[in-house]
Amino acid sequence: MSDCIFCKIANKEIPSEFLYENDYVFVIKDINPKAPIHLLVITKEHFANLNEISDEKVLGEIFKGIKEVCKELGIKEYKTLINTGKSAGQEVFHFHAHILADK
Ligand code: AMP
Ligand code: ZN
Repeated sequence: MSDCIFCKIANKEIPSEFLYENDYVFVIKDINPKAPIHLLVITKEHFANLNEISDEKVLGEIFKGIKEVCKELGIKEYKTLINTGKSAGQEVFHFHAHILADK
């Protein structure tokens, strides 16, 4: 979507460091971290939120991305958070999973 910030990052219209990438997702640092380590696992394709993703391959690749970026960065213990919908705290309406960790 043209006015979506995460689409712009996915398309490299806005520069951002990718900490991990596969064919389906990429991972960046959250701009406003709420923990010492705060990453976002973002789908390359635009989905407004989890409810919009029905493809099991994409769902699997999201969790694969979460595990692989943590493994690559040596993050052994972490919290994973997915906000779905405004009242649940979702602010950016392009699918992303938060990874939060202390070290
Ligand atoms: P949510 O409330 O689940 O939609 O989370 C949106 C997250 O995106 C927030 O934690 C923001 O700090 C983060 N965020 C917004 N814009 C950017 C950006 N340009 N780069 C990195 N993180 C961002
Ligand atoms: Zn988008």
